[in-house]
Amino acid sequence: MVIVLERTIREDDKTRLRTFLEERGFRVREIVGENETIFGAVGSVAIDIREVEVRPGVERVIPITKPFKLASRELQKADTVVAVGPIKIGGPRIVMIAGPCSVETEAQIMESARIVRESGAVILRGGAFKPRSSPYAFQGLGEEGLRLLRKAGDEFGMPVVSEIVSTQDVSMFSDYVDLLQIGARNMQNFELLKAVGASGRPVIVKRGLAATIEEWLMAAEYVLAHGSENVILCERGIRTFETYTRNTLDISAIPVVRKLSHLPVIVDPSHATGIRDQVPPVALAGIAAGAAGLIVEVHPDPDRAMSDGPQSLFPDQFEKLMRDVEALAPVVGKELSRIPTRGRSIGAAGTGGARPALSADVTAGPVPVAFQGERGAYSEMALLRFFHDMEYRAMPCRSFRDAFDAVLSGAARYAILPIENSLAGSVHENYDLLLQYPDLTIVGEIKLRVEHSLIAAPGTTISDVRRVYSHPQALAQCHEFLRSHEWELVPFYDTAGSVAHIAEQRENGNAAIANAGAAEVYGMEVIKAGIETNPSNYTRFMILSRDEDDSDTGANMAGLVFSTPDRPGALFSAMQILADAELNLKKLESRPIAGKPWQYMFYVDVELPAGGGAFPDALERLRHVVEDLRVLGIFRAA
Ligand code: PEP
Ligand code: MN
Repeated sequence: MVIVLERTIREDDKTRLRTFLEERGFRVREIVGENETIFGAVGSVAIDIREVEVRPGVERVIPITKPFKLASRELQKADTVVAVGPIKIGGPRIVMIAGPCSVETEAQIMESARIVRESGAVILRGGAFKPRSSPYAFQGLGEEGLRLLRKAGDEFGMPVVSEIVSTQDVSMFSDYVDLLQIGARNMQNFELLKAVGASGRPVIVKRGLAATIEEWLMAAEYVLAHGSENVILCERGIRTFETYTRNTLDISAIPVVRKLSHLPVIVDPSHATGIRDQVPPVALAGIAAGAAGLIVEVHPDPDRAMSDGPQSLFPDQFEKLMRDVEALAPVVGKELSRIPTRGRSIGAAGTGGARPALSADVTAGPVPVAFQGERGAYSEMALLRFFHDMEYRAMPCRSFRDAFDAVLSGAARYAILPIENSLAGSVHENYDLLLQYPDLTIVGEIKLRVEHSLIAAPGTTISDVRRVYSHPQALAQCHEFLRSHEWELVPFYDTAGSVAHIAEQRENGNAAIANAGAAEVYGMEVIKAGIETNPSNYTRFMILSRDEDDSDTGANMAGLVFSTPDRPGALFSAMQILADAELNLKKLESRPIAGKPWQYMFYVDVELPAGGGAFPDALERLRHVVEDLRVLGIFRAA
């Protein structure tokens, strides 16, 4: 049952309530939510819930109707986010786990780790104890395999996952791996589930070959009931009558499980299909359906793999899949998880010495990040997404300039600012401000899909609406939808601000257009989501810092700005240098120079090959043909 505690409950009443429940044979777990604190009480004992309801400090008692209790959304409304080392599974970042089916040799696992890490995977997989259908097939290297997997993980800075098949191996696994995997064949090996649960380690519970969703959640319940709080579910295909694929991926299980449970669910497209060429499309379908990540088999030389070669991706296939997942992520409101690049990237310790480190365990407290707008603004949504892996404090600023100032003065460590919208074009003010703040550098970028919602006070229906407030750009972007209604359109300075405004006014007939997150911030409700005319609407945000050391060493983009001498072919010579260096131009934009009528600065985004390629040389050559050249930042473009 779920016991909702009163906000004002006294500590001693809480202790007495816990003791009372435990004496009756319940296992009690306290869950502190944003709005309320609850006790989840689970056990095989029957109790008259009125006995609990009457105790001091108890607000109400809700029985959990499902057979799975700790895994149920009835117990915990918020998504569970499982931390595996620095990687979080179940939040706004898509986690890619990859590696070979089995660890075969040191060279093979090292090479696999290098390949998947370079393409962007964040956790390394590799089986050492293989539950094979045939006793004559390769059974895995055992403990030696785990040792090699750990070595490869350490070498490439990745947490590792491997399948455990025996209760006796739990403590040995704890020495080598960060994440334990319960394989499909062991999903109902209850002794194993109990032992793994008791280890307290994060666990992936794969769905059994012929398990119903309920049986699968009950398996997770075993792990949770025995002590682990960190369970990840994995849909890996089930047995059906179909023979063209190894299994049938139950894609609908993903939304079903997400509704029933707070646990993150990932997809294994490799065992689901059994055939290499079917892995990428099915993988993307998993992400589109709401999976928190993927676990994919990749081998440096699949034709020579000792197990599951036919379903293992070639390195270049995996690289392509990673790019496709990265492109798909903003469509489903997520971003790809990345390992902070050692010592230099956002989220890792800075190399600046005197500067505080930025990782979550830093003693200096949450990192202040400035954004422009009211709470709930699109910028804050981007901030939330980008800084998810870090302990941060969002600092709302009135204007873009205030956000720049906050970083310059040191009041904020970073600022996150919109630079371009895919429909409306550049945010010129921010381009101009970049010039006025030469001490600030672009250290990162994120793309956010802009999904506008019509928002009003709870209970309002569409026919009640008379007036719609929003930023003129948002109103324009919802033109098609608004045209079909006879509403008064009221331009407002800010989208989130317009929601704050109608929340304050509490006037019947008022509505606002903003992102759905803003409705939550101000206790309003979404009446209709996705009202933008063009659903392909994205905004790029840049992350600014005062410290170049915050740049990501995985950079793939450079932002430059320069002016050119006033003579024929001046811009052409600059472009020629980039062309000769085979550097791909992603954007070129001119802006007037303040105080110099009819003279212009050119803003250029250049794609960087891995390692930077000929960029440093090209930059040197550029200095000779252009004026006032400045590197705005070398960063990882999303
Ligand atoms: C594996 O991940 O290598 C594996 C054996 O998977 P499953 O248990 O899903 O068959
Ligand atoms: Mn396999």
